[in-house]
Amino acid sequence: MTHSPLTAWTAPTSKYNDIGPRAVNRLIIHHTAGGTNDGNIAVLSSSSREVSASYCLLTTGDLVGIVPEEYRPWTSNAPGYDNDRNSVTVETVNTTGAPDWGVSWAQVEKLAQLAADLCKRYGWGRVDRSRVVGHREVLPGGYTECPGPFLHGQLNNIVDRANAILSGATGAPAPNGEEIVKEFTGGSSRKAPQKIKGGNTEYITFRDKWTDDKWGDRTIARGPGFLSGTINIAMEGEAGTRVAFQLVRETGENKNRLQIADPRKTIDSLGKLSFQINFNRRLAEGQLVRLLARVQNGKEVEVTEFYWDGGRSE
Ligand SMILES: [Zn+2]
Repeated sequence: MTHSPLTAWTAPTSKYNDIGPRAVNRLIIHHTAGGTNDGNIAVLSSSSREVSASYCLLTTGDLVGIVPEEYRPWTSNAPGYDNDRNSVTVETVNTTGAPDWGVSWAQVEKLAQLAADLCKRYGWGRVDRSRVVGHREVLPGGYTECPGPFLHGQLNNIVDRANAILSGATGAPAPNGEEIVKEFTGGSSRKAPQKIKGGNTEYITFRDKWTDDKWGDRTIARGPGFLSGTINIAMEGEAGTRVAFQLVRETGENKNRLQIADPRKTIDSLGKLSFQINFNRRLAEGQLVRLLARVQNGKEVEVTEFYWDGGRSE
């Protein structure tokens, strides 16, 4: 009765087949297309519906063991397809509905950990996209849209992160919460916190360079893709100092300003300023988005926080 050491607890079921020794050779990733954590555990384990999975991955990132890995779960098959014969399957409970069918970053990270764990225990050597597949990839086109756009768009990241885990990477990997300060225009690359001196000519640019969304890098993303979330920035400086923000979308040499609510701010009486910009936008191939800030002439502020909290889908 084998479950991954990552398993938080188990919800046993009799919904599986004992087909003799299995050579587990891949992880098939699913989403639940809705429902609650408890509801999905019940559907997969105790309900009379003829469906189960090796694991149910809750929105909290907790991995619940359902069908032990020795047995074939009832997850990804269709007439003429025995996809689950040598597969471990995971049903990922969604955090949002159509059209993105989101999941949490804790779940994305746990999927990478699970892929790395299976790789070690079943001797795959390394993880690649033949080892981590989406449900829709093992059935004819149009049969299912599982997993949804957000999770399907994370499969390459999950493979990259799994291999990073296998090579000993530690630390917070998920693309949310990472600071995106890269460098100033004309300046060298410096990490936050950094001083921004007020001037009266140029906007000071945070060259966040959304070049890709690979884990372990401070950069976030470049189009194409749908980006949804919040840009968080916090500054400290002399009370009363004025700061104005701009969000600019660039396509090659073409720049246009994106509307943001209430872009003019003032450092408060405690010497602090925090600002959140909600961002929900589809970026075309090659498009970048940059945040610009202008500080009142003669003043200086220090950036104490600057990070992106959100998701990306294709
Ligand atoms: Zn599925």
